[in-house]
Amino acid sequence: MASKRDYYEILEVEKSVSAEDLKKSYRRLALKYHPDRNPDDKVAEEKFKELGEAYDVLGDADKRAAYDRFGHAAFSAGAGAGAGGGRGGFHDPFDIFREVFGGGGGGGGAGGSIFEEFFGGGGGGGGGGRDRSGKARGSDLRYDLEITLEEASTGVEKQVELERAVGCDTCHSTGAGKGGEVKTCSTCRGVGQVIASRGFFQVQQPCPDCGGTGQVISNPCPDCRGQGRVEKSTRIKLRIPAGIGEGSRLRSSSNGDAGFRGGPAGDLYVVIHIRKHEVFERDGNDLFCEIPVSYSKMALGGELMVPTLEGKATLKVPAGTQSGTVFRLRGKGVPILNRGSKGDLMVTVQVEVPTNLNTEQKDKLKAFADSCGDENSPMSESFFEKAKRFFS
Ligand SMILES: [Zn+2]
Ligand SMILES: [Zn+2]
Repeated sequence: MASKRDYYEILEVEKSVSAEDLKKSYRRLALKYHPDRNPDDKVAEEKFKELGEAYDVLGDADKRAAYDRFGHAAFSAGAGAGAGGGRGGFHDPFDIFREVFGGGGGGGGAGGSIFEEFFGGGGGGGGGGRDRSGKARGSDLRYDLEITLEEASTGVEKQVELERAVGCDTCHSTGAGKGGEVKTCSTCRGVGQVIASRGFFQVQQPCPDCGGTGQVISNPCPDCRGQGRVEKSTRIKLRIPAGIGEGSRLRSSSNGDAGFRGGPAGDLYVVIHIRKHEVFERDGNDLFCEIPVSYSKMALGGELMVPTLEGKATLKVPAGTQSGTVFRLRGKGVPILNRGSKGDLMVTVQVEVPTNLNTEQKDKLKAFADSCGDENSPMSESFFEKAKRFFS
C-alpha cells in the first residue's frame, strides 16, 4: 500500500464532487482508457484498472465516506468486512453503460432487422437474446411468400427455400476442431460484450470474436470457423390455413438462423401476400366482382352465369334490374380463418350498351323506343322532377 494515488485524483475530480459528476468523469475516463480502444497499451490498462478501483470506492456512498475519513487504510487488508480487499471489489465498467444506455436484453441484434421495424419488435423473446447457458440465440428470419387468392381460400401446403444458418455437422455445433479447447476470449476478457463507437455514442455490443459467449476456441472447426453453424439453403414446409389474409404472418418456430455454437435457433416469419386476381376483389372474407349484362336481359329478367372461386354459379336476375344493382351470394366468399363459415360474394351487374348495330337492329330499337314513350322510365321521371329547375 506504499504510494497509492488518491482516488479523487485518479478520477480527476474535486473532493466535493457530486455523485452525478463523479459518474460522468468516471465514464469519460473509462472510455478513454478502455482496453478495446488501447490494444496492447500497458499504461492504459493500468489506468483502466486504477479507475475501476477508484470508482468502486467513490461511487458507493458508504465506501466513499470511509475513504474520506481513513483514506486507503479503510480498504487495506483486514479492514472493514464490507470493503473486501484486493481485486475482489473490482468495478465492472459495463454496469455503468448498462445504466446509461438502458441496456438489458442484448440490444435486439444490433442494427435491428427489417422485421423488427415492420412488426414493431418489442414483445419479448425477439432477436439477439440468449438462452440460459448464455449462448446467443440465432436471428429471426423473414420470408415474403406470394400465393393466389384460390390458395388463400382453400388453404395450401407450400415449400419455401431459403438461405439460413444451420448447425455445423462437422463439429456438432460446438465450433471446436480436432483437439480444440475452449478458452476465455481475450478481446472481451470473457465479458462477452465490447464497447464500440457509433458517431458520438459509445455502445456496448456482443463481442464479435466470441459471439457474446466470452469464450473462444483454440482450434476452431474449419467448416464453420468456430461458429458452430453454417449458411445453407434449406427447404421448409408450410401449412397455410384457409382464409388467410394479405399481410398475415405465420411463425415457423425454430426455423430461423441456428444459434451460435449450439444456442437456440431463431424463428422464421412468413409474410403472406396475395396476388391480384383478374376477376375478384377481396375485402375481408367477402369477394366482389362486376358482371356485364345485356340491356335486354336486365329488362326481361333471366339467369346469369356467375364465376366463384369454386367454379360457376347461377344468379336469377329479376325483370327490370337496374345497372349497378348488387346481388349478394351468401357463402360464396372466402372462408373465415379457423371457422367453418364463409363470407359472401357480391355481384354488381352492369348494363352493357350494344355497339355496332346493323340497320335492322337500329330500326327495331327505334320502334321499341317509340312504343315506350315517356312512360316506363321511373328513374328518369324522378330525376327530372328533382332537376327541373335546371332546365327551365
Ligand atoms: Zn463446425
Ligand atoms: Zn469476446
